[in-house]
Formats: sequence, structure tokens, C-alpha cells
Amino acid sequence: HASAPNTDPATAAGGAHSPGNDAAGVQARRRRTFAVISHPDAGKSTLTEALALHARVISEAGAVHGKAGRKSTVSDWMEMEKARGISVSSTALQFTYDDHVINLVDTPGHSDFSEDTYRVLTAVDAAVMLIDAGKGLEPQTLKLFQVCKHRGIPVVTVINKWDRPGRSPLELLDEIEERIGLIPTPLYWPVGIAGDFRGLLRRSDEGFIRFTRTSGGATVAPEEHLDAEAAAAREGDAWQSAVEESELLSETGADHDQEMYLAGQTSPVIFASAMLNFGVRQILDTLVAYAPPPRARDGVDGKSRQVSDPFSAVVFKVQAGMDTAHRDRLAFMRVVSGTFERGMVVTHAQTGRPFATKYALTVFGRDRNTVEDAYPGDIVGLVNANALAPGHTLYSDPRIEFAPIPSFAPEHFAMISARSAGKYKQFRKAIDQLDTEGVVQVLRNDARGDASPVMAAVGPMQFEVVTARMQAEFGVETVVNNLGYTVARETDKESAPGLNRQRGVEVFTRSDGVILALFSDKWRLQYIEKENPELTLRPLVAAS
Ligand code: GDP
Repeated sequence: HASAPNTDPATAAGGAHSPGNDAAGVQARRRRTFAVISHPDAGKSTLTEALALHARVISEAGAVHGKAGRKSTVSDWMEMEKARGISVSSTALQFTYDDHVINLVDTPGHSDFSEDTYRVLTAVDAAVMLIDAGKGLEPQTLKLFQVCKHRGIPVVTVINKWDRPGRSPLELLDEIEERIGLIPTPLYWPVGIAGDFRGLLRRSDEGFIRFTRTSGGATVAPEEHLDAEAAAAREGDAWQSAVEESELLSETGADHDQEMYLAGQTSPVIFASAMLNFGVRQILDTLVAYAPPPRARDGVDGKSRQVSDPFSAVVFKVQAGMDTAHRDRLAFMRVVSGTFERGMVVTHAQTGRPFATKYALTVFGRDRNTVEDAYPGDIVGLVNANALAPGHTLYSDPRIEFAPIPSFAPEHFAMISARSAGKYKQFRKAIDQLDTEGVVQVLRNDARGDASPVMAAVGPMQFEVVTARMQAEFGVETVVNNLGYTVARETDKESAPGLNRQRGVEVFTRSDGVILALFSDKWRLQYIEKENPELTLRPLVAAS
């Protein structure tokens, strides 16, 4: 059931207004679609489980990785996945919380970090930046944050592992502000230093939420709500310092401002322990109260698609060969507008062809579940999606086509060729196909020729996917040689000759026409930039 538009907190968070009987609009306002951006080991899997514990899981799309002693969603996709014990096919977990529907879209990390990790961020409306209190900002978090910033995705910051000795809370906030220019506006302040986590001071009313540990963090941590006086009596100095620090924050203007949050300038901060389930409900409450619900999106013609308009969706990820028996292809779309009903025939904007959605799924890997309907913000997997690639649009009339997903900054580069020269034709066909699908970026230059193009990737796993699919689907055995480049910059025709003359630099044209200069390392890049200020060198999205 849906709440009335005028009482729904989503309205405060910038939700679209629409007539009361409009199902898609009402459902859109109930929804929060977000991703967790973090560095491996910050606690993303633990937090995912903790969030699910506080909510009612509707469907699980392999978002929780198969870690020891945890619920594992093993899919049988590719041998390498089995060998590594990672779930390449993770995508989305859906649950209800307080009459809201939450879609948590997984950002593959660890060894499965790839261009898909960045593409996931084109499918969400908000992000939770999860930071390990002992470590602060780490490299993968920084890269993912850059993508959020570039796309205007508002960020809620969660400082995790507060149950363990770590840094001081003010020091952590300083680091966020200084290194990434995001102004932290804590909603809650920890009572007790890192390692002595007693509860949270709610800054809006100076209330105290006191948590009690449960055995192994297996159940929701009981909360006691006390007023300031009772909190002072109970926690003494720990409460006093929390109050003082919170007042200090107010003096420096570190209070929540909804407009600045939505503009990506500030970030509400919550201290938590995913392991003990402390602060987890507060994360959900924050997302529900402040994170933006699905919003209208512009088409390439500049016309915007309202959430209550007829169905439309964007494909943000495609996986091939997940089921070895069927060699099918699964495309994941995020619903942008309207109501999706399984079985409806929609149009694929890029080809103009009809696309039947008889096999629409929410759960995959081994537990594929059929989805019957979906609304703006929801993630749906489509089977037999051979023509679909990341960035493609599906719609019901009237026609809409959304902007393509940009390519992201690659950091791994390898030359690829067919082992046998006799396979050249199949090799060419295969590499073009994989390029079109967005499996890797393909770079070429005259010096290297067509028989051995260069693959550029965000994560090295993308190369493994290419070689595995070359073999399995095209019967081509390949040879891959890693190149010693680690940084790419966009350049132009005028600067190309000057760059090619430099040591440790090579210029390529990507299949989308963008000219890229590859550098052996960032020091070489910095040196060349300094010595040759006339050369055009632009960072790519998420470039480190
Ligand atoms: P991921 O790599 O980001 O998915 O991280 P995991 O959820 O697997 O957590 C990494 C490690 O940190 C595991 O050993 C977790 O038990 C531990 N961990 C996660 N959250 C917390 C927390 O809040 N407190 C403590 N002490 N440990 C945590």
C-alpha cells in the first residue's frame, strides 16, 4: 500500500508529484535505489546482511557474497568464478523497510572490480560511502566517489567498525573534507570513542540511542532511547564529550542541509558497527528520509521522461554465459519510468525491434526468481538479451532513448591476438562483438595494426572474461600480453604526435573515436604535463 503524497517523506526529498491514482508515481516515491561504495574489507557484505536483517527481504539477486559461514549465493557462472569463490553475478537486493522499497545494487569489488562496478553507479539514485574507521578513505572508495561526484549522485557517509579502536571522529571528518571536498554533516554522533561504542547522539534533538550487543551480532541490536539528562547520568564523560563535539560541529556549520546534500556538496554522516548491527537502522532511516527517490531522466533529444510516464528502462550491465547449459545472456535494466509487467513486449531503442520480456528475473545465479512487475528504481534481469548492451534503452511508446553510459578510466592494458593466424577472421569478429558489449575497451593504433589490438580495462578480470568468451563462444584461443601502462588520459589529434615522441607514452584511438594517451606511471604523466603544458591531457572519469 502507498502513503498519501503529502505525508510521504519522499516529497521532502525531492520526489515527483503525480496524481494519487498513478501507480508508477506512487511506487517511485516509495523507492530508494542505492549502492554502497567502499574499499574491500570495509564491511560491505556485513552491512548488506545487517540491512537485510533490519528489513524484510523481498528478493535477493546474489548481492551477498559467498563468505565462510554466511549465506552464499553460488552461481555456476564460468569456471573462474568457482575457482575464486566470488560471485561475479551479484546484482541487486530488494527489501521493504517502513513502507518503503529499498533496492541495494551491488558494486563488485575485490578481484571482480571492473568497468561494471562503475556502470552500476549509473543505475542508482544515491550512494552510501562506507569507510573503515581505522583506515579512513581508501583507493577504491575514492575512485567510486569520483564517479558519484561526476554523475551528481548524493552520498551518505557511514563510518564503520566503530566497535574497534580507530581514529578520532573529528579527524575522520577532516580527512573527508580535505581530500574529497565533501562537507560532512553528521546526523548522529558516536557516544564512546572508537572501540567503546555505546550509542549515538541524535543531533537533531540531543536524544541518546543506546545500543546493546547481541551474541555475535546475529540479531538486531536492542535500542534504548534516552533524553540528554538520562544519557548524562548513564554515560557520564562519554556523553559529555559527544555533546561538546556535536556543539562544535554546529558552530562550524556542519548541520544537514537537504539542498546541499542533493547537490553533492555535503554528506550526512552516521557512525556504525555493521558487525554489531549498531547504527544500521539509522542508515535506513536516513536513506528513507533524505535520499532521493527515482526521478525523471532526460532522453538524448532533451525531452524528459517522468517516473509516471509509460515504461522505460536503461540496461546497465550484461552478463553472457552465466548458465553454461544454455549459454544465455542476461541483461540488467533499471526501470526509469512506468510499470513493468513481465510478458509485456517493449521496444529496444537502439534497433527499433520488439523485445519480449517473458523471462524477467529478480534473482539469478542458482535461484532465479521470476519478477511479475517492477517500478521506477527497480532492477530486473532479462534473459535472451542478445541485442542488449550497457547503456541501451527499452521503452513502451512513446519512444525514448537515454544517453549512453560513458566509458570509464581504464588502468590495465594488455595486447591480445589469436594464437593461430588462421583464426584471424573469427578473432576480429569476436573482439568487435566484445567491444560493442562493453566487456573491455578496444584501442588501436597504426604501429600495432589490427591483428593485435590493445584491451583497456578498469580491472584485470575483464581480460579473463574476454579470453574465456573468445574460447567458448568463438573458438578462438588467444595470447594476452600485459603492457606496462597504468594511466590513461584523453588527448586530441594535435597533441598525439608530441606525445608519441615521449618515452613511456603511446597514443591510441578507442573504438568510440576518443584518442587516449597511455602512460607507464603517474610520475611520467606528471613530468610530461609539466614539461609540455601545450599538450592536451584530460583526466577520464574516475581517473586516479
Ligand atoms: P567487504 O570486503 O567490504 O565486503 O567486507 P566484509 O563485510 O567481508 O568485512 C571484512 C571484515 O571486517 C570481516 O572480517 C568482518 O567481520 C569485519 N567487519 C565488518 N564490519 C565490521 C564491524 O562493524 N566491526 C568489526 N569489528 N569488524 C567488522
